[in-house]
This record gives sequence, structure tokens and C-alpha cells, in this order.
Amino acid sequence: MRVRQLTPNLIQLTRLRFVNAFLVREEDGFTLVDTTVARSGEALIEAAEAAGAPIRRIALTHGHGDHVGSLDELRGRLNGAVEVAMPELDARIHAGEDVVDDKLPGSWPELETKPDVLLEPGDRVGSLEVIGAPGHTPGHVAFLDTRDRTLLAGDVLTTLGGVAVSSHFTLPFPIAAMATWDKERNLASARILRALEPQLLATGHGPAVRDPGKATVRAIERAHRALC
Ligand SMILES: [Zn+2]
Repeated sequence: MRVRQLTPNLIQLTRLRFVNAFLVREEDGFTLVDTTVARSGEALIEAAEAAGAPIRRIALTHGHGDHVGSLDELRGRLNGAVEVAMPELDARIHAGEDVVDDKLPGSWPELETKPDVLLEPGDRVGSLEVIGAPGHTPGHVAFLDTRDRTLLAGDVLTTLGGVAVSSHFTLPFPIAAMATWDKERNLASARILRALEPQLLATGHGPAVRDPGKATVRAIERAHRALC
């Protein structure tokens, strides 16, 4: 697990070189945003301990396996003493509901953990504001830290080899594009995220990008052309 302190309130945790989770510092401990792939729970807890605070809650951007992969393990290791928040629609997909007519790409592993909180746009998780950002999955959300305008964008955008919209098929990271449910909706969400004018863009895959405005605009233009 690679650990990078990005801001006083944000630590990036990277598994397998390109799968990110984040520790967001709050007064009572950390919010863990996403959990990376399976069998990462111990390393995620150790990273929080090394940073000096416990994981108090887990907030998920979406239901894909490389984001919820260690959720059950973490819930077990933390003896259930952690609140789990998941976007409402993705939680219903995990519960077996057919929330959309078409087939859902990406991996949707079975989860034992039922979320304590169902996230809707406008909700808050500590310092994070929940931003509706559907398209990559039906319920996908992003989190904006309103203290410093850090944006945790999940898989709406990727930052491996530069900022890209996940709907746009880009090397070196086509996997997020292939796992995207509705490319047009994801592009609309990318526009919503850009309009938030984040100071720091942190995504599910790739390094964080400071002052991402121009690079995001270019990525949106490329994705728009690719869809037309
Ligand atoms: Zn995903």
C-alpha cells in the first residue's frame, strides 16, 4: 500500500499501483473514501493508525469491486464500529434490485455489509458534500471537501497519464471506460464536477492533480468529440 499525504486533511492510499482510496481527516478520526480491492483491509487500517487516528466511517463513491472490495473485511476488523455510507442506487443494485433496464458493466461483487447511510446528492459526510455524479454507475457520487475544495471524483474522471473522462476510451487506462454504464451521463457529470472548480482533483485511478481546471476542460472536450 502506497501512502501519500496530499493535504493536511487528505491521505491517498494506493493498491496495485493504480487503485486509490483516501483518508479524510475529521475531528473524531478518518472518513475512508472507498476501500480498494479485496484483502486490503488490514493495510488500510494500518495506514490510518500510522496517521494517528481511527477510521470512523466509510463513504463509497460507487459499487464497483475495486472500490467496495475490502468493505466486508473492514467492517469485520473494525468490529462493526464504523458507519458505512453508499450511494442509494448502487446500494439497491448490490441488494439485487434491477434499477436500470440495461446490463451493468464492471464488477459488482456480493457484499455482506448493508450500508447504514444511503447517500443522496446534497448530503454531508463530515466535511464532505455529496455531489451527484451518475453515469459511471447509476448511483455514482463524488465528494467535495468544503474546507479546501478538494474533490474526490471517484471514477467520473481518471488521472493516469493525465486527466481523462472515464467515458472516453484512453490508454493507458481503458478499464474505467469499459466499466462505464452510461457514457453521456458520465460526461455530463464530468462537466458538473469541473464547474465546482476544485483546487485538487483526486480520482479512483491515478495521481491527484492540483489546479485541474484546464486539464479537465480539455478532457471533457476530447470525450465530447469521441461521443459525437
Ligand atoms: Zn468504477
